Amino acid sequence: MTALELDIAARPRLRLALPQKNHRPSFIEQLLPLAKENVSMIVVMRSNATEEELNAVLARIQEHGLQGRVTCGEERNIVGVIGATIPSTLQEELERFPGVQEAVRITRPYKLAAREFHPQDTIVQVGDVAIGGGSFVVIAGPCAVESEAQIMATAFAVREAGAHMLRGGAFKPRSSPYTFRGLGEEGLRLLAQARAETGLPIVTEVMTPTDVELVARYADVLQIGARNMQNFQLLEEVGRSGKPALLKRGMSATIEEWLLSAEYIIAQGNPNVILCERGIRTFETATRNTMDLNAVALAKRRSHLPIIADPSHGTGKWYLVPPLALASLAAGADGVMIEVHPDPDRATSDGGQSLTCENFAALMPQMTALAGTLGRRGVFWLNIER
Ligand code: PEP
Ligand code: MN
Repeated sequence: MTALELDIAARPRLRLALPQKNHRPSFIEQLLPLAKENVSMIVVMRSNATEEELNAVLARIQEHGLQGRVTCGEERNIVGVIGATIPSTLQEELERFPGVQEAVRITRPYKLAAREFHPQDTIVQVGDVAIGGGSFVVIAGPCAVESEAQIMATAFAVREAGAHMLRGGAFKPRSSPYTFRGLGEEGLRLLAQARAETGLPIVTEVMTPTDVELVARYADVLQIGARNMQNFQLLEEVGRSGKPALLKRGMSATIEEWLLSAEYIIAQGNPNVILCERGIRTFETATRNTMDLNAVALAKRRSHLPIIADPSHGTGKWYLVPPLALASLAAGADGVMIEVHPDPDRATSDGGQSLTCENFAALMPQMTALAGTLGRRGVFWLNIER
């Protein structure tokens, strides 16, 4: 044995690294310690790799003046390489070691949200609805919950048309303090009533960390609005709640900033994050925002998280919603969120970008047909009574 091997053999941490029989750590348990140390590379060991093979990998990492951290996963151990400068040849070198399945360089500042870390699509399960992993999910409903009659009429109409979830804001972030800012808890109660009567899970916005507990009692998915994408205390509180989160992209946020915000939620132990592209501010004034479909396709490549597109806020015009909903599907979105109102001209907010129930019903078969053509699982698989 060389001095180095002796040194490694003497470290008790190595024995802890071997899989323990009854504990199957989640990907966050396995990867969070590495993410916190700003890991630069991960070495995935084969499930049948021996302790000697693991030790040989660690020894080589140390020979390069780097540190290796072993974490034990559901099926296999992985070794995180910690160190600022990784030699360009290290990846190839480690992949030649027996027992190594692959070595992956971690290049992004976000880790838990990155596909580099977690290659498989994350599927967020909301009741019977699975978001991500090849399905196409439709969330529909008014911008704001206004009254019992309005939310019930919309809920039944969108369910009839084939939507999978109901949206509606009870706490509304409005640019002006003099416009309708939502019904508050009464709005949440009406949403819960709509869910009880239609079976549709509900998505609704939470605006402040102190409201998370309240909103989480009613909602199936907590929406974090564009204006709050970098409200870090809110992100962490939603993370701690463990509820699925729909994280809207800030209107001036880069894709990297958006994924770093997702990282805040996941780092609290909540992997149930759904990204939502809702348009960004550009020089163009003809539309409310510019629907950034680049971001839809790129976020799917950079991250394992599901992504929903919101062409209502992305365009600001109801007649642009159907074409951009279809385009989002083609760009790879895992679903769309669409504002629908039984009487858009009288809506308290976002009437100009809301589809009528009839127009929404006309769009659904087009989306279903396109989803079929693209080989996506259809949208009519929800297991509720109609
Ligand atoms: C909304 O969904 O009604 C909303 C306020 O969205 P955003 O945060 O994207 O503006
Ligand atoms: Mn709105």
